[in-house]
Amino acid sequence: MAKKRIIIIGGGFGGVKCAGTLRKHLRSGDAEVILFNKENHLVLSPLLADAVGSSLNIMDVIVPLRQLLPDVECRTEEVLNVDLANNEIEFESYDGHPRRMHYDHVVVACGNISNLNVVPGMADHAFPLKTVGDAAVLRTHVLQQLEKAEVCGDEARRRWFLSFIVVGGGYSGVEAAGEINDLVRGSLRFFKNLRAEDVTVTLIHSRDQLLPEIGEKLREFAREKNGRGGRHDPTQLPRATRHGRRRRPQLRIYPGWHHRVHHRQHHRADDRSHADPEARARAPHRS
Ligand SMILES: Cc1cc2nc3c(=O)[nH]c(=O)nc-3n(C[C@H](O)[C@H](O)[C@H](O)COP(=O)(O)OP(=O)(O)OC[C@H]3O[C@@H](n4cnc5c(N)ncnc54)[C@H](O)[C@@H]3O)c2cc1C
Repeated sequence: MAKKRIIIIGGGFGGVKCAGTLRKHLRSGDAEVILFNKENHLVLSPLLADAVGSSLNIMDVIVPLRQLLPDVECRTEEVLNVDLANNEIEFESYDGHPRRMHYDHVVVACGNISNLNVVPGMADHAFPLKTVGDAAVLRTHVLQQLEKAEVCGDEARRRWFLSFIVVGGGYSGVEAAGEINDLVRGSLRFFKNLRAEDVTVTLIHSRDQLLPEIGEKLREFAREKNGRGGRHDPTQLPRATRHGRRRRPQLRIYPGWHHRVHHRQHHRADDRSHADPEARARAPHRS
């Protein structure tokens, strides 16, 4: 029997598990397993927030696919198209030209992409947190804000530099807010002109409860741990704007952790480096 070729598109949790399982159960003489991924590493996305807050080194939230899957052919190339009629995929090859490869079976495990269009203006003014490059860019931005605040003579502007807003009170949002809060407050002692009361880290969440994915007991534990008994006013982010003026007060949670947002909302993304695709492409790769 001719050797079958199985192509897996995507080297995230789904694709890696699939490749590993197939390799374990199929003899190498019976089938070859080829995994295409845009990057040469798996991203441990639950740890991305830790990388933002420097709890973890950015290199510790990625694992090289070749190390994970030594018996699988890993190709760092983007698949452009699946030609179901001819059992072929089309991919962008090393020289930028499209090439084709035949398959007997194809597995599509491409994951999803961040949808920043849910809130108007978000795509232009917010930071996504999906890739390791996103985490690096966000961390750099937070530290840049501290540096700017340190040398800024204007008090209101300084507070603006030190105001951070996280949208979404699920796992990632709560973790990112906590990590940013820890990073900023933990760094204050290295700055001469920054005061703790100038820092606000805000979590905006549209539902009644934070962390809707988990049970009441655990949720309460997280709330207590992070905020020591604060208040949670559910609200929705109507839009993200360059100057960020809002017509109504917004959510504040947990004294000392999150604080009230007033009518003057100073969310402004004048540093647009986070939107720079080249900056993302320069994200550290472990090879
Ligand atoms: C910040 C954050 C925190 C999270 N925390 C948790 C958590 O605590 N618990 C939990 O269960 N889940 C968590 N998740 C969700 C979890 O990461 C996803 O559910 C999981 O990664 C989905 O796995 P996947 O393999 O389907 O897709 P992904 O992990 O997104 O992987 C898809 C891969 O396919 C590649 N790809 C896409 N298109 C192509 C193409 N055309 N050609 C080649 N390669 C392509 C991508 O580059 C990517 O490497 C978190 C997600 C984020 C962003």
